Amino acid sequence: MKGLGKILRYLKNYKKYAVLNIVGNMLSIIFGLFSLGMLIPFLNVLFPSKDSAVSTVSVLSKPEFHLNKVGAWLSDSSKYYMQLLTDRYGLQYVLIILCVFFAIIMLLKNAFRYMAAYNMAPIRNGVVRDLRNEIYDKILVLPLSYYSAERKGDIMARMTNDLTEIEWSVMQSLEMITVNPMNIIVTLVTLIFMSPQLTLLAFILLPVTGFLIAKVGGTLRKSSSKSKGMMGVLFSMIEETIGGIRIIRAFTAEKIIRTKFHEENERYTGIMNGVYRRTDLASPLTEFLVSIVLAILLYVGGHLVWSPTHPLDGPLFVTYVVIFSQLVPPAKAFSTAYFNVEKGLASLERINKILHAEVTVIEIEEPRLVKSFDKEIEFHNVGFAYQRGDSGYALQNISLKIPKGKTIAIVGQSGSGKSTLVDMLPRFYDPTEGLITIDGISLNQLKISDLRNLMGIVTQDTVLFNDTVKNNIAFGMTDVTDEQVISAAKVAHAHEFISKMENGYETNIGDRGGKMSGGERQRMSLARAILKNPPILILDEATSALDTESERLVQDALTKLMTNRTSIVIAHRLSTIKNADEIIVMQKGNIVERGNHAALLAQNGVYRRLYDLQSFV
Ligand code: ADP
Ligand code: MG
Repeated sequence: MKGLGKILRYLKNYKKYAVLNIVGNMLSIIFGLFSLGMLIPFLNVLFPSKDSAVSTVSVLSKPEFHLNKVGAWLSDSSKYYMQLLTDRYGLQYVLIILCVFFAIIMLLKNAFRYMAAYNMAPIRNGVVRDLRNEIYDKILVLPLSYYSAERKGDIMARMTNDLTEIEWSVMQSLEMITVNPMNIIVTLVTLIFMSPQLTLLAFILLPVTGFLIAKVGGTLRKSSSKSKGMMGVLFSMIEETIGGIRIIRAFTAEKIIRTKFHEENERYTGIMNGVYRRTDLASPLTEFLVSIVLAILLYVGGHLVWSPTHPLDGPLFVTYVVIFSQLVPPAKAFSTAYFNVEKGLASLERINKILHAEVTVIEIEEPRLVKSFDKEIEFHNVGFAYQRGDSGYALQNISLKIPKGKTIAIVGQSGSGKSTLVDMLPRFYDPTEGLITIDGISLNQLKISDLRNLMGIVTQDTVLFNDTVKNNIAFGMTDVTDEQVISAAKVAHAHEFISKMENGYETNIGDRGGKMSGGERQRMSLARAILKNPPILILDEATSALDTESERLVQDALTKLMTNRTSIVIAHRLSTIKNADEIIVMQKGNIVERGNHAALLAQNGVYRRLYDLQSFV
């Protein structure tokens, strides 16, 4: 129960709806009780008691009200007025009045019930919308390392499955907190007035019932959490399979991967069976336990009716029992809601894991704004490890100056830390040791968006979105004219193939540009960088996915792009960086050689070896 506040916290933006919901429910309960209370006059009319045969002339006097005998007063008043009416207008007429009255009360009861439900809809959907937005916003700021550790499918599971669970919980918990207890309390108060003795007995028996129900619900949260984790595993497997369907078929791995999926699915099903069985126990268990209490009341009450001295008579007792039986639905709903909340809390914990995940790249309180790059970028003894406290450094002792307007090339074997080094510039990662400055200001003093706007990044794996060609090239930019997009595409040698597409620049390129070839995708992302026109350009093996012919085209585009700009180029083929102002040679996270092409060749070291290897192929 203690986690309930966590869910209710999300209701704070929906106070208006919550109040209307509660008021509607409250009125609905009251009219519901009224409609049941009408049993008394009905029974009086249908079965007139011997001492006050309704047809005879008034023998009853108007009963007096005593707070400790409300039940008897109600019953006697009913008898009195029914007799009065019958005497004056006849039985037929009284029956019609009662029926019409009953219909009106039921209309009101259900109108208010609908009013409650009507106002529930925006709460339930609104809370889920808020959470969904919150998670999505968080995804946009979480550190890149989060995504290597935490699987995509799991995040998807949390965003869909767990949210649905919370939608239920929020709904249920609101009703649980308000309607059901309200219902139970109002009903119990009514019962106290009708017969204090019987109700006292009920008060002793009902808590025992509640205790038993709570015991069963206790273990539910844990198994629900487990099942949600399994769902995440399934989502990951599906996402991996769809992404890798070519490879799976090429290696005829269907059988292995199918078996694996079916096994996980089986485990999930097993856990879910347990969860459902336990959840579904709430309602029948409650109904049975409350019925036991009712049976005891029937026994005791029956004796009271028989006793000539006790004020409890037949119609009053029947009505009492009917009203008491009305405790069953709210009690059942209460326990079901309680079980569902336990399940929902497991989901909330999983969602909070994302929402509370640490954001490692943080902007300082009052960051410095930068609109231009004037002098130089400098690495001061930078070291970096992907895992905090990890001894395996991906970068060590990197000191490097990149003056404005120069082209710096970084070469080295795969895994030597080249990408890691350039990822530090847009602050995808912050250095573990040392400092990076731009025009003498440490990167972490700057407004992150300003810093990133200074840079254009083209990587080996092009990232395109399921949108039109034009929107992909103008990605992240506003106020871009068609002419600008087209001229950028021309520079990137992309205009030609784009013009041949179905709808030209308005063609939708499909999921991740699946309809394009590797070279075409690469030129698209080049056009994107050209359009952005940044002062600093970062090319991380931008041409390595291309064949020689398209590489020549792209290289030409790149050379144009690099003139008058500060560029950091990671190159796969050394022939493309011969003209760089400085070449940095990396090995195992360290800079081992530096200089221009000629000087490095003359050194006869690592660079020379790499260069010779490539010259012969
Ligand atoms: P390069 O670009 O030179 O091929 P990287 O900079 O990508 O090399 O990688 C340098 C080292 O850091 C490698 O040993 C690699 O395994 C490791 N590495 C790269 N990315 C991650 C990551 N997200 N988490 C942990 N280790 C990583
Ligand atoms: Mg790399």
